[in-house]
Amino acid sequence: MNSPPVFVTQPFLPPLEEFLPYLQQIWDNKILTNGGPFHQQFERALCEHLGVKHIALFANGTLALVTALQALRITGEVITTPYSFVATSHALLWNGIKPVFVDIDPHTLNLDPTKIEAAITPQTTAILPVHCYGHPCDVTAIQQIADIYNLKVIYDAAHAFGVEDEEGSILRHGDLSVLSFHATKTFTTFEGGAIVCPDAKTKQRIDHLKNFGFVDETTVVAPGINGKMSEFSAALGLLQLKYIDQAIARRAEIDRLYRQLLAEVPGIRCLGGSGERVSNYGYFPILVEPDYPLTRDALYDKLKAHGFFVRRYFYPLISDFPMYRGLPSARRDNLPVAASVAERILCLPIYPALEDATVEAIAAVIAS
Ligand SMILES: *Cc1c(COP(=O)(O)O)cnc(C)c1O
Repeated sequence: MNSPPVFVTQPFLPPLEEFLPYLQQIWDNKILTNGGPFHQQFERALCEHLGVKHIALFANGTLALVTALQALRITGEVITTPYSFVATSHALLWNGIKPVFVDIDPHTLNLDPTKIEAAITPQTTAILPVHCYGHPCDVTAIQQIADIYNLKVIYDAAHAFGVEDEEGSILRHGDLSVLSFHATKTFTTFEGGAIVCPDAKTKQRIDHLKNFGFVDETTVVAPGINGKMSEFSAALGLLQLKYIDQAIARRAEIDRLYRQLLAEVPGIRCLGGSGERVSNYGYFPILVEPDYPLTRDALYDKLKAHGFFVRRYFYPLISDFPMYRGLPSARRDNLPVAASVAERILCLPIYPALEDATVEAIAAVIAS
């Protein structure tokens, strides 16, 4: 193999020369952070692009998750999914909240709403689901349960930038939704994140919390944190917005090509792709089923030997990490679907610069 290694993702960046005028402006006005002009412009532009009312920008998605839980004063126990990136549950531990893991749906790989009620106790205050791979959760069923038991719903929407359902942005559901703009995500500001909130009052509380709790020069109303996005990231975000539709359109082409090439491969199941919802094609997850000639790990190694560095997202499950595995809800027999999916999942490379020929080569290795 003499072609360069192919990784599961590659950051999507706008032309550098278009970023230079933004940097010039920062150098000229010397405003680097604390809600400067690019921060304000980016918040407005994002609201418009995503079709939501209020957004609070953050330095990263994890701080946004931690702050979202603070903003709604969540305590006690929170129901969440074991099938996600660790930051989802870590945000609960950082708030002194006990995660209660509930199994996932075998088709969407999101929290299974039919299993939530059995996990509710008098200590339960909220549900923290994840729109895994940007595939929307069953938001209607989750809200119904939340209404009956008077629980808050915070969506970890780190994968769900720009994802829509029949009536608009998926980010309008629940009490809050949290985005990540990390380098590996579909839309990136290097590091970055945001909370989508339904009303101005909640946004104001979040804005105070992300700035140490300051409301003015001398008044501190809460034990806030430093979660502010810098002008550099906000400027980059503004520029990225001009290219994101184009980037997602290219991802959609790659998604279609993989589906076409892998459709006839026995034992390989492509996830998602229902077609009726707007996706951002941030991931291309496949399940390696028992009728495939190799195990998932053997296929992972084989692809690696060809220079294709695919990823086992999400393996291990969050509930298998040392700080979680002692919890009663972390037991394998409580999470059979998640445990089985974690053993079979592979995420294939997908990013705007990925060429058709590389997609064909990857599919050929899988099919051979
Ligand atoms: C990326 C990610 C996060 C964390 O976001 P950061 O911006 O990296 O802090 C949280 N949850 C999920 C599901 C993620 O994929």
